[in-house]
Amino acid sequence: MAKRIQFSQHGGPNVLEWVDVEPGDPTDFEVQVENKAIGINYIDTYVRSGLYPSASLPSGLGTEAAGKVVKVGAAVSHFKPGDRVVYAQAPIGAYSEIHNVPQDRLAHLPDAISFEQGAASFLKGLTVHYLLRQTYHVAPGEAFLFHAAAGGVGLIACQWAKALGAHLIGTVGSAEKAAIAQRAGAWATINYREENIAERLSALTDGKKVRVVYDSVGKDTWEASLDCLQPRGLMVSFGNASGPVTGIDLAQLNKKGSLYVTRPSLFGYITNRAELELASNELFSMIASGAIKIDVAEKQKFALRDAQQAHIALENRTTQGSSLLIP
Ligand code: NDP
Repeated sequence: MAKRIQFSQHGGPNVLEWVDVEPGDPTDFEVQVENKAIGINYIDTYVRSGLYPSASLPSGLGTEAAGKVVKVGAAVSHFKPGDRVVYAQAPIGAYSEIHNVPQDRLAHLPDAISFEQGAASFLKGLTVHYLLRQTYHVAPGEAFLFHAAAGGVGLIACQWAKALGAHLIGTVGSAEKAAIAQRAGAWATINYREENIAERLSALTDGKKVRVVYDSVGKDTWEASLDCLQPRGLMVSFGNASGPVTGIDLAQLNKKGSLYVTRPSLFGYITNRAELELASNELFSMIASGAIKIDVAEKQKFALRDAQQAHIALENRTTQGSSLLIP
């Protein structure tokens, strides 16, 4: 038997339950991983709340962790027991001591990267990779807007942008978070609880505005994000921390300057093993070079059984950078 977090109905953090499960043997193409550190992602709150409804209940939670291989299925060729691995986009259920994961979702974790660093950076770092290198190729010296810059994805984006020589203008919810984002490499910050986003961005760019906005906040920032774009600029809407964007009037894109909009997800950018290896090698080399540092605050390392507290902290906006569950 192994312990895991699950939920039997959608709702707030209090629906999370701490239960025993029988993980079962891995199927032919699966690898059984003993999780050493589990990544907490804002997406997990959408799954728990029902914004992204579960196919069946009760359901496990979480898609990302780092750990050691304990067993492999008969057709697994890339991994063996004892290997250090990290995974993202696994079938839901990573909030567990043991998880069976298809081999195409796993990467070998370099020895120089700890389990905690791996679990705190894999899904978020792969996301930043596709956003800044594929959805739109951010150029050295180019200014762009990135919302929630002191969050898990945000702090990696600040560091990646700095390494590229690009000017990330990050929104944040407090003065403390502004300082954290700037230390990580943000070129400038906007406190969106106090400042008008579009006016401040216009001042920071001498009225030029930007060619790309990365928006994971959703409903609350949609309109302001469009107002930050140059004609024919690109709005990358990749999350819903304040609620989903609905009911878009396409004429609005015309009026605001023939804008483009995309709504990407990691699943659309990592569709096979080759894409996973390419992106994870770039991420690992950014970490190995020291360009991206992954430090998780001690108060954001929660025992696995305390997943409820972890979700409360994330949704109350009291966290900065990544948070972890430790089995
Ligand atoms: P974060 O650590 O960034 O936490 C979310 C942050 O959003 C908060 O800390 C808060 O920062 C900000 N925020 C703004 N408005 C609200 C609100 N009303 N309620 C709660 N938070 C708010 O989370 P992650 O790093 O895990 O994820 C960041 C975003 O990226 C999420 O929206 C997630 O869904 C998205 N994502 C999308 C992916 C994709 O491929 N499409 C993949 C991975 C993540 P502050 O206090 O500074 O405002």
